[in-house]
This record gives sequence, structure tokens and C-alpha cells, in this order.
Amino acid sequence: MDKKKIRNFSIIAHIDHGKSTLADRILEMTDTVATREMQEQLLDSMDIERERGITIKLNSVQLKYKAKDGQEYVFNLIDTPGHVDFQYEVSRSLAACEGAILVVDATQGVEAQTLANVYLALDNDLEIIPVINKVDLPSADVERTKEQIENIIGLDTTDAPEISAKTGLNVEDVLEAIVAKIPYPMDANDKEPLRALIFDSYYDQYLGVVMSVRLRQGTIKVGDKIKMMSNGAEYEVTEVGVKTPKILKKDMLEAGEVGWISASIKTIKDVHVGDTITLAKNPATEPLPGYKKLKPMVYSGIYPVDNARYEDFKEALEKIELSDSALVYEPESSQALGFGFRVGFLGLLHMEVIQERLEREYNLNLIATTPSVIYRVTLTNGDVIEIDNPSLLPDPQKIKMIEEPYVNIKVTTPGEYVGDLMNLMQSKLGVYRDLVYVDDTRMELVYDMPLAEIIFDFFNKLKSISHGYASFEYEPIGYQESKLVKMDILLNGEMVDALSMIVNNQFAYERGRELTKKLKEIIPRQNFEIPVQASIGNKVIARETIKAYRKDVTWKLHAADISRKKKLLEKQKEGKKRMKQIGRVEVPQDAFVAVLKLD
Ligand code: GDP
Ligand code: MG
Repeated sequence: MDKKKIRNFSIIAHIDHGKSTLADRILEMTDTVATREMQEQLLDSMDIERERGITIKLNSVQLKYKAKDGQEYVFNLIDTPGHVDFQYEVSRSLAACEGAILVVDATQGVEAQTLANVYLALDNDLEIIPVINKVDLPSADVERTKEQIENIIGLDTTDAPEISAKTGLNVEDVLEAIVAKIPYPMDANDKEPLRALIFDSYYDQYLGVVMSVRLRQGTIKVGDKIKMMSNGAEYEVTEVGVKTPKILKKDMLEAGEVGWISASIKTIKDVHVGDTITLAKNPATEPLPGYKKLKPMVYSGIYPVDNARYEDFKEALEKIELSDSALVYEPESSQALGFGFRVGFLGLLHMEVIQERLEREYNLNLIATTPSVIYRVTLTNGDVIEIDNPSLLPDPQKIKMIEEPYVNIKVTTPGEYVGDLMNLMQSKLGVYRDLVYVDDTRMELVYDMPLAEIIFDFFNKLKSISHGYASFEYEPIGYQESKLVKMDILLNGEMVDALSMIVNNQFAYERGRELTKKLKEIIPRQNFEIPVQASIGNKVIARETIKAYRKDVTWKLHAADISRKKKLLEKQKEGKKRMKQIGRVEVPQDAFVAVLKLD
């Protein structure tokens, strides 16, 4: 294959700016999908919601485009998987591309996620082609949108196609721009030892683990013995191919190409997204840069509501780990919640997405406990232990010192929000380090801060203060001693281990008060009175009471009320699924993460 005819690219955009619609048009205009098979947002058909029951997760599609220069080009359109704001997911797809099409809605202009995605594309050294979309709408302001792209992002928009992904207007210009502007894979060489980046994978009942790969160097064909560079596992390739988007088997994949490989791999643990595949005979010496090994920052206990589903849950975790290099977990148990796993996440969003995927793709009902960081505890006898589950913190008498992870956090924001954001950082125990101008409009705030304070509702506050425009990144800078205490929650006089948390002494009373109040709102009334208490050691620091039901005076219903009552019952039943019986009290899932939603 002539490498000069290959173009590997992604489409990036803020949500709703038209990424999926443009992908549809491109598939249609290149006759990749026959018009009669066309359905809207085809690439989205594999989204979590619609994915169940379909074995093939589509994450890249190969298409052929006959350009105006008379030549035929091979395009690999790599879908950025998962949620748009799920940055490391987007990032790993981009690592398989040479270019990105940046779609900007002309009625909205540049938005927060537009920027975040551009940064990721730049990190991966991609050629970015800005495209102005929705020009068919009367409210489209093409000039202003172009100005924003130039000023905020710094991309030249002179030749930016002005399109309607919906009607197809000027979409051909996008295809031509891909040919003209996105570089072909210049590092592709079939003669060198194989190096293929695994950028996604999934489990197929028949094929075993199927890996989506980008070949940088070398070729791979059926019968080859491959080797995973991170762990040395070896397998014989049973099938290779591309997606068009139907699965198309081929004899061989070449350098520069994007495709899939299966090798009857049943040992899920051998496959890591971000790993490099080489050949057992004549292996490459260096793996591809891959992805930074991401270290989980946040841990949470996850439990099936129905304890009988423990094995299913375990299997689901193993499978989901295939497409998520960042997930780690180990078994744990809780008095309140039974058997589950302590799972490590990159952050709260990661935690939410994984929980959602587990529930949707594996039909599980799960309860997640309040996330925690890893605390380092020095005992009076000199031992040092690490605690990722607050309920396991030893007796205060046995503790000499507790240290917690600190991070250096950089918040990038338009200038007007700097004052309010500095207040936020301070309220989160941030220690000021620096304030710098990034460019004419943006500033960067630099602080050191306990990681735990980022977990407790930092993201939401940051976004609401800055109307979505501020973004942040942080890196660990080690442990520092803090005055920390364990706060327990008692429901009906019984301590609930899954609700225990470690807090800074300074916030203990305030958080105790807020949390008991919040729990009172969340836990439904039952037919007896339930005291909700927060305590440190044996000392109760806050108390609320959930009153018992009143006698049900609405019992004798009129006919018209019956359907209303029925609806109410249905709703309660729906809610019940996520309830966990703790002692005599029924506790909804929300209670376990209530602390994240305090005002
Ligand atoms: P995504 O979230 O970026 O994938 O956005 P979608 O492709 O799902 O588009 C979001 C909405 O905008 C959908 O209702 C589309 O029909 C609509 N849309 C996308 N492109 C255009 C366009 O060029 N013109 C108009 N009028 N609507 C569009
Ligand atoms: Mg979409």
C-alpha cells in the first residue's frame, strides 16, 4: 500500500457541535455505508446505551475517498470513544492519528470542551483542521466563530471549511482538506520490526480479546506469533482486519494502517491498552511511547446491591479493564455492604463513568462508597501503613502521624474569574504558589493542595464559578502531614462503615453538620424515627433526626387518585432497586456519595 495515500484522523468537538453528524456525512459521501443502511449518528450506535447485545464496538472505520486530484485515498476515521470530557480516552485515540478535524458550531462558538480537546490534539502533535459547522442556521455567526478560533485557540481559519454537516453543504471541502493538510504516516516502514499500538480492546465471545491497533512500523499477518512488549505474553494471530464499519477480514495489516487483531486471547489480563505489540521473532527493541501509566488517585468501594451478583460483578470488572488501562481493583468487604471491590480511579468522572458502564453493559446494580485518597499512617510503634479505606483507620491512640497526598494544581482560566477562583483554592486549603499570564485572555493559577480537597466537589465548584471555562490539571508532589480525623456516621445508633470518612480537623464539625443534614434529606422516612449522627471517636459532633411517617391519611383514595398513588408506588419501587438495607434502615445509593454534594 502506498503510505502517501493513508490519512489517519479523529473528529473532535464540544458536545453537540456536530461530530457525529459530520461522521455520518463522511461515511455517506465516501459510499462507505450504502444510503439504505444509513442511520443517524451511525458511529454513535455503539455508544454504551446501544452497545449491549452487539459484539462489535466500532472505534475506527476505514473508508476510501476518490479525491479531486484523481487519486484514491484510504482514510481511517478513528472515533474518540467514551464521553467527550473523558479526556484520557480521547487522548489515547488521538495517539493513533496524524490529524484531527475540529468541529465548531457557528451558533455557539468556541466552548470549554473545544479547548480541552484541542490541547489533547496538540499534545499528540496532530495537524488540526478547523471546520465551521451549522452554517445553515440563521443564528450562525461564522465571522465571530472564526475570530474565536484564531484568538482563543490560535489556529488559522483562512481556509476553514464552512459547512452544514446536516445538509452536506461543503462537506467535500473537509474531505479535500484531509487529503491536503493531514500528513501521511511518514514513520511507516514495512521493513522494520513490528510496533503496533493497542488503542482499544474488547472481549468477543468467539474471538476472545479483539484489539484495535495502529501499526507504526512493520506488518502483521494471520499466523504470526505476536508478543506483548509490557509482559512478554505470546499469541498466534488468528485474524486481522479493518472495519468498514462492518468487520472486514484481511490477510495482513501494514505499517501506517489502523485495524484490529485477534489471537484467541482468553487471558484478559495479558492485554493492556497502550501496550505495544511486536513479533516474537525479530522483536522491536523499544516499545512505542504508549500512554503514561496512570496511577489511580481515588479509591472507592463498589458493591453489588444484590450480593448474589458478586461473581458477575467480578467478571464485569475483568472485562471492562480491557478497554480501560487505568482501572485497578481488589476484593474488600464491608459490614454494611457485604462483598465487593475497592476500585482505584483517575478521578471522580472516571469513577462515575466506570460505574455507569458496569451497570449498563453488565446489567448490574451497584453501590459506590465515598471516594478516598490513600493516607499514610505512622503508628506509635513505628510501623507505617497505607489506608485507602477510611473505615480501616486504626484507633487514634495508636497513631503517631497521618500524612495525605498533596498535588500541585494548575488552573487555567479567563482573567475575570481569577478572584473567585483564588477564594475557592483558599477554602480548599490551597497554598498559593504562582499566578501567570498564559496569553491575552487567560491566566494560570498555581497552588499546592491536598488531593482529597479536589475530590470533595472541587470540579463542580470550579466549573460553576468559571461558567465552564476554567480547566485544571494536577500532579502529585508527595505526602504532607495533616491534622486528620476519622468521622463516623451512625444511623439509628449503628455505625455504617461504608459512610466513614477521613477529614481535616478544621472541617470536621462543619462537614459533620452538613453531612447529617444531607443524609436526612436523602434517606426516606420509614415507620420509625431514625437518628443520624456524626461522631469522632465516641463524641457525637452533629445530629439530625429523620421523622417517622405520619399515619397514612390518604389511604381512602378517590378513583382519580388511584392512578397517582400507583405512579408513586412505581416510582418508589424504581428507587428501591438502589436501596441497601443497613440494620433496620433502608439507605439509597445517594447517601454513600452525599459528602460529594455538600454545598
Ligand atoms: P456531537 O455531540 O458533536 O456528536 O453532535 P451531533 O452530531 O449529535 O449533533 C448535535 C445536534 O446538532 C443534532 O441534533 C444534529 O442534528 C444537529 N446538527 C449537527 N450538524 C448540524 C448542521 O450542520 N446544521 C444543523 N442545523 N444542525 C446540525
Ligand atoms: Mg455525538
